[in-house]
Amino acid sequence: MIDRCWICGGADLARFHEAPFDFHQFADEDRDLYAYTGRRVWLVRCATCGFGQPEELPALERFFDRMYAQRWSDEWIASEFDADYKDFIFAAILRTLKRRVPPAPRTLLDIGAHAGRFLHLAQADGWTVEGIELNPRTAAFAAKRTGALVHQVNAHALASDGRRFGAVVLTDVLEHIPEPMRLLESIAALVEPGGSIAVKVPNGRAQWIKERALAAVSAHRVSLADNLVHVNHFSPRSLALALEHAGFSGVTVRTAPPELPQRGLSRAARLATFGAASLPGAVHTPLALNLQAYATLA
Ligand SMILES: [Zn+2]
Repeated sequence: MIDRCWICGGADLARFHEAPFDFHQFADEDRDLYAYTGRRVWLVRCATCGFGQPEELPALERFFDRMYAQRWSDEWIASEFDADYKDFIFAAILRTLKRRVPPAPRTLLDIGAHAGRFLHLAQADGWTVEGIELNPRTAAFAAKRTGALVHQVNAHALASDGRRFGAVVLTDVLEHIPEPMRLLESIAALVEPGGSIAVKVPNGRAQWIKERALAAVSAHRVSLADNLVHVNHFSPRSLALALEHAGFSGVTVRTAPPELPQRGLSRAARLATFGAASLPGAVHTPLALNLQAYATLA
């Protein structure tokens, strides 16, 4: 049992959702992971800061590494580099960081660089970029396509080498990392004094409300933390607290732009929702499905 909130240390944790495990696709390659299929785990929410986390973590050694040991095809990785569905998000991050980080030379570290599309866009925008990507295949692809250094070590190891960057970016990464304060504290050591961090995560409570609303009107099953892929469920307040506790100041948390399909009704609906969710105070409503935080290291 985890009896304290990972962000604020609060002990008033209430159950709100029971998530299933399903690893049937691992039946041949990882029997110990497969054995979790059919089990369930409770998510609990902290009454003090609104953060959601699992009531306990799987006992299986290297559970998360094993779950993410996907064997992606070269074609799929290349398609992830070319896909532009996150460019609206990436452009907003680069625009904001450019205002915050002094010019010449602007250095940026993308943690969880995946196939390297954000590195590529940041280069085109004038940044000197490096990445961290633990998956060897996506790391190799990102390095090859961008010519950038893509480290296959964790943030703590890179910080121990004395590396510092003007901007450090985590997009759709922090929700996957158990005990996220340890990573954020390592990241603080990677940021130059006066530099900035940009963090995008799903808004835990808004996603929960959206999932339940869909389930109420359709055959949709509430899918919030299946297999604990999303192990952290941030609220605007707990995201700000996490950054402050890691040593950052001047934290702002706003509604993050959505992923956008090329065209059609879904694109228009997402833009309209984002517009409404960007109005003052709307980050605290269920319309804010994703959160984008910025903060400075003093
Ligand atoms: Zn808390």
